[in-house]
Amino acid sequence: MSPEAKVAELIDKENRWKTEVIQQNFLKDDAEEILSIPLPRREMEDKVIWHYDKQGRYSVKSGYQVALKLKFSDPPSCSDSRGNNWGVIWKLNIPEKIKIFAWKAAKNILPTAGNLWKRKIIQEAQCKRCGEGMENTWHALISCKAAKKVWQSSALANAFQDMRSSDLLGELMRFQKILSRADIELLVTTLWVIWYARNKFVFESLKLDPNLLLAKAEAVNEAFSRTKAPNLLHGENLQKNKPNGWIPPPQGWMKINVDAATDKESKCSGLGVVIRDNQGKCMAAAIKKSKFTGDVSYVKAEAAEWGLCIAKEAGLKAVILETDSLEVADLINKRKASSAEIVWRVQEIQALKQDFSLFKVKHVSRSCNFCAHSLAKMALGRTHSDVWWGNFPPEILHVL
Ligand SMILES: [Zn+2]
Repeated sequence: MSPEAKVAELIDKENRWKTEVIQQNFLKDDAEEILSIPLPRREMEDKVIWHYDKQGRYSVKSGYQVALKLKFSDPPSCSDSRGNNWGVIWKLNIPEKIKIFAWKAAKNILPTAGNLWKRKIIQEAQCKRCGEGMENTWHALISCKAAKKVWQSSALANAFQDMRSSDLLGELMRFQKILSRADIELLVTTLWVIWYARNKFVFESLKLDPNLLLAKAEAVNEAFSRTKAPNLLHGENLQKNKPNGWIPPPQGWMKINVDAATDKESKCSGLGVVIRDNQGKCMAAAIKKSKFTGDVSYVKAEAAEWGLCIAKEAGLKAVILETDSLEVADLINKRKASSAEIVWRVQEIQALKQDFSLFKVKHVSRSCNFCAHSLAKMALGRTHSDVWWGNFPPEILHVL
């Protein structure tokens, strides 16, 4: 690298650091500014003043500045005059930092390029990811090409299609009536991972895969609800409720969790496998992209078969295979018969069973299978398969 290029890189690095510092302060400042619009203490006669000038006098220059602001302005943000509506965010069962993020987004105080430009902190209001128009909160989280890619792969794609106004709090309140609480939580966490990806791109020039981001959103919510679960399970409901989480196998056994995710549009499926010991320690994780011809159970059976192949390759002897497909579990356990294509996969699984001295298949709820599910989702964004024996890459570790 030439000395000039090195200097340019250092300046760029310093500028980015400065921008980050300014952004952090900006968040604090702007929240305070909103709350500090002064009102007279005593009753006074009404008169027209030009709010945008220190002396209250209109000038062409200040008028021009305001016109520019209005031209590129964000949609009106929600104000506290909407009373207790903020409860829609605060009562969610998600990490505190994500609630605070959602509150800032709905208040329009995230350090978007548009907001920083209005504060004269940066020169360009344009979105760095798509280069199409000003980056306001709605653009960054919903309408930017990069954000759309995430929403379109999301389980909430339908809700996203239905986003009507650019008032985030209003939309959350509307969704509250039509979506389950878990879906609202996923929606808010999805907004958060989109902002996370936006920052990764703007500050580190990293492009994150949409499926990986969605897996992260699900994993964050799942992990958070599990940390809360013991409190909820106290008392008499303990017996009635299914444990809301994965249970390790008995000593000497390994547990193989398998799942498949599908993308109808691209006719692809992603397979995910995770193998853990009785301490819950992850021995292996694997992801693979496959075809999807329309039968979800078929691809879930395919994931089961692949999971057993990996376990066989590792020379495991006592295994419990867990799937969230009741059909697949019943077919392998011969509680049910089928004449569809799925029997080919089940026959392969029956043959593979012979390679283990102890073998069980269990049907579990989706929440007990969320690691395999997250991996399967991740696989959708991949072009090749991967099997890791320890040394898990960071994006996998996050899910595990
Ligand atoms: Zn954009």
